[in-house]
Amino acid sequence: IPIERYRNFCIVAHVDHGKSTLSDRLLELTGTIQAGGNKQVLDKLDVERERGITVKAQTCSMIYNYKGDDYLLHLVDTPGHVDFRAEVSRSYVSSGGALLLVDASQGVQAQTVANFYLAFSQGLELIPVLNKVDLPHADTARSLEQMKENFELDPENAILVSAKTGLNVEAILPKVIENIPAPTGDPSKPLKLFLIDSWYSSFKGVVLLVRIFEGQIRAGDHLVSFATGRKYTVGEVGIQYPDQVPQSVLRAGQVGYVYFNPSMRKTQEAKLGDTYTKVGFERQVQPLPGFEEPKPMVFVAAFPVDQGDFEHLEDSINQLLLNDRSVTIQKEASQALGAGFRLGFLGTLHCSVFEDRLRQEHGASIIITPPTVPFQIKYRDGREVTITNPAEFPEGDHTKRDVAELREPYVLTTLTFPEEYLGRVIEICESNRGEQKSMEYFTATQVILKYEMPLAQLVDDFFGKLKSSTKGYATLDYEEADWRESNIVKLTLLVNKEPVDAVSRVLHESQVRHVGKQWVEKFKEHVDRQMFEVVIQAAVGRQVIARETIKPFRKDVLAKLHASDVSRRRKLLEKQKEGRKKLKAVGNVVIEHSAFQAFLAK
Ligand code: GDP
Ligand code: MG
Repeated sequence: IPIERYRNFCIVAHVDHGKSTLSDRLLELTGTIQAGGNKQVLDKLDVERERGITVKAQTCSMIYNYKGDDYLLHLVDTPGHVDFRAEVSRSYVSSGGALLLVDASQGVQAQTVANFYLAFSQGLELIPVLNKVDLPHADTARSLEQMKENFELDPENAILVSAKTGLNVEAILPKVIENIPAPTGDPSKPLKLFLIDSWYSSFKGVVLLVRIFEGQIRAGDHLVSFATGRKYTVGEVGIQYPDQVPQSVLRAGQVGYVYFNPSMRKTQEAKLGDTYTKVGFERQVQPLPGFEEPKPMVFVAAFPVDQGDFEHLEDSINQLLLNDRSVTIQKEASQALGAGFRLGFLGTLHCSVFEDRLRQEHGASIIITPPTVPFQIKYRDGREVTITNPAEFPEGDHTKRDVAELREPYVLTTLTFPEEYLGRVIEICESNRGEQKSMEYFTATQVILKYEMPLAQLVDDFFGKLKSSTKGYATLDYEEADWRESNIVKLTLLVNKEPVDAVSRVLHESQVRHVGKQWVEKFKEHVDRQMFEVVIQAAVGRQVIARETIKPFRKDVLAKLHASDVSRRRKLLEKQKEGRKKLKAVGNVVIEHSAFQAFLAK
């Protein structure tokens, strides 16, 4: 099949609007998979199937006969969620166009808007598709109007389908062929290969998902990476159809997979967005833009409940990292919780997906701290440091004098919801330190609101609050905005004056009181009574914000005494007091790990 008859495309959609279902239908229609068999073929990871979300970009090739000619189509399934924006934009780079899929019963939602602009800015040809028209409450007229008003897409060109029943799905591929341009690229030029994604196969090692921009590639070729300078020998090339089918060659315009032999050892070597060429052609090939180191913005620390499990935990984390290089990892030691790891994620969903997978493996035997964001510290001597661990926050009068500026990350959020919730949504945004940027009515009843707000607020279950106050109707998307100067402080939990490092947190001054009070009250519930008094405090530096006390067991020494035996009574009381003092002075509060676990759980 010549390059003129290739089409690379993807589906742009909000979560749940039917991307995976539609992909299945298209694969069935082209005979790539059997009808009624496997479902959600492109969602390969367990977590994708369980949660019904696509986390990793996947590709599938199809052969489709149009007016007597065979066409080679590559459908690249992209994650719909913002956390994976880098993955999304890499998929777009490898596509010539996209289906803009909208659920007709829901209309345009936050991620439709965000993904539309991302696709549009990359020059993709967009074909509007309205899905779920089988639903009785589908409102096609309104959805089409939204697409026209916001994306200037002509309703005349829209395809109305039901991915579930298969209704009218056959109208899609002819439009793909007619409207989406064939990839360009010259198979006789030096190789220019773009790395879209990679994952780990226990049989063959690291698999690379690639798009060939120029030239061709076959087994035995010697390649070099522009990002790392490392060299590899190609072991096998092929296409996903839908499983891997080896080919003798991949040519310019194609999307396919590559194994090296010997295989790439670590997925970390595969820098997504990297360009490869053949050894010797480095000077003749201009690498594609697009390679970016992942920028983690959400951090948690994970500890084994039992330190004996440390290695097991390390193994499981490393196993999960094989398929997700965007997670960063660092060893961490806490006085209270022992040795563990600090993990960095692209965003909140990315973080919670990883957490779920880790918990599946370890269940109750793992402690994970609530997520935090990075902060920047600018010192007077010009140094700038980004911290991801509250332990690194400058403390004490001396360090404070050296600090010129503290900053926290802000994001631009896009919220869509029915108009009746406007008042409540604005309230939530404002109470989360949000600043309104714009407000638009999509249609008479649907609002799009844009707010800038600290990422720290978003991480703090903003979405949960938003959902619960809009009966689940609100949708949210966000993009990175910038770093802003901020009055941030470190809040520390003290147990009998000893700081509990695992609990401390950097946060905005305005939240200190509220969080401090919550901490001491909650912590009190989880610490057993001791033989001595336990004082729980939340403090910023030397300033105590909140305090609770757990009374000691009171040995009823007096019960045995006769009331008249006053001097003996006094003596005993003295003794008891002394005993208490001694214990307190030891100050060794025994706090069960399970208490931390209960405390740190949301
Ligand atoms: P994705 O998140 O965009 O990949 O969405 P899925 O393909 O996983 O679909 C989300 C849900 O919508 C699933 O429960 C599907 O069965 C359902 N769904 C998808 N397409 C249709 C459709 O055309 N009609 C109806 N009624 N339901 C659909
Ligand atoms: Mg999906």
